[in-house]
Amino acid sequence: MALIVQKYGGSSVADAECVKRVAQRIVATRKAGNDVVVVVSAMGDTTDDLIDKAEQVSPLPPARELDMLLTAGERISMALLAMAIANLGHEARSFTGSQAGVITDGSHGKAKIIDVTPGRIRTALDEGSICIVAGFQGVSQGTKDITTLGRGGSDTTAVALAAALSADVCEIYSDVDGVFTADPRIVPAARKVPKISYEEMLEMAASGAKILHLRCVEYARRYNIPIHVRSSFSQKEGTWVVDSSELEGQDMEQAIISGVAHDRSEAKITVVGVPDKVGEAATIFTVLSDAEINIDMIVQNVSAASTGRTDISFTLPATDGQAALSALNKVKERIGFESLRYDDRIGKVSLIGAGMRSHPGVTAKLFAAIADAGVNIEMISTSEIRISVVVAQDDLDTAVAAAHRAFDLDSEQVEAVVYGGTGR
Ligand code: ASP
Ligand code: MG
Repeated sequence: MALIVQKYGGSSVADAECVKRVAQRIVATRKAGNDVVVVVSAMGDTTDDLIDKAEQVSPLPPARELDMLLTAGERISMALLAMAIANLGHEARSFTGSQAGVITDGSHGKAKIIDVTPGRIRTALDEGSICIVAGFQGVSQGTKDITTLGRGGSDTTAVALAAALSADVCEIYSDVDGVFTADPRIVPAARKVPKISYEEMLEMAASGAKILHLRCVEYARRYNIPIHVRSSFSQKEGTWVVDSSELEGQDMEQAIISGVAHDRSEAKITVVGVPDKVGEAATIFTVLSDAEINIDMIVQNVSAASTGRTDISFTLPATDGQAALSALNKVKERIGFESLRYDDRIGKVSLIGAGMRSHPGVTAKLFAAIADAGVNIEMISTSEIRISVVVAQDDLDTAVAAAHRAFDLDSEQVEAVVYGGTGR
């Protein structure tokens, strides 16, 4: 008997019909002789709707109360799903994150899981129940308040429970058939990736691919939990996210590049006219780190000899843009820079593949493809298995398609079906 953890995203439980369909799928898994733990997201756009409501009553809702509100979304879907399963003649019990033993730190809105003690889930499984757990939430160890793990956090709940219960697999269900070589909404000829390593999936998630929550992949890698990303709208085999040792001996062609990810959520700040002296960059980035702002790419130009000044540009989540500008403006005198420029009309394209470690020429080919498409590159950054470039947001789709084509990732026929529409 295997233990399977399944996670259903918001589009898979969008309405009563969807909930009933998912219930059937869960019951089928149970009937096949497995123990089943299910993690659910809030129905459809519930989380966004709740955030809108909060903003209608307060421009800056207290974080504790916002978490209390948002966790209600997942509680609705867990209870409805348990009812739908009961209606099919099977015993199901729903649990909040707190009841399921998801213990977090106290940082509301972006809590980190520090422990999972799924005693009640174990007992319920032993008593023959199917367990339904509300995703994306936990309880703070210190304050005992209800916390949320950040948008898209139900994936992380699922993998964390899978690890704590030593599950055989964690299945993540959404409305697309798996991980694709690019977002099928931009590149209709994108292919489904049958298997991908944790490290490549981490780079994809960090580069803006929304199919899996970044922290869920980190968790899966740490505890070696195989993830099967698939659609709840079809029975097709999806994408397996596994340890790289399981990918050895695979077709080399496929291994060079596994995909092209994109991200529209970042902005670029240029600090203009920074005096070229020891310690200026340190001061700038300390100010940003004190404001708890995560920086992505950084470019510093050579200073012009005549002025002894240089420009430093960096990218960051656009949602942190205003906070960064005001933090920097406070130290304008101290640092002595001339001005700040802000641009949120940027996009980032990333090419990811473990094979680029051993294949020269990948960078040249990518840049040539983007140039041939008539797109200007503004910034560049790389890791061992990723090359990212920043372009104007209006050029983003063109650059993604050009990169995808250049590495022969386009498939002959259209494989990607988007069943629901949100990719979650
Ligand atoms: N419902 C939450 C969100 O929309 C969590 C999740 O779906 O994973 O972000
Ligand atoms: Mg959601």
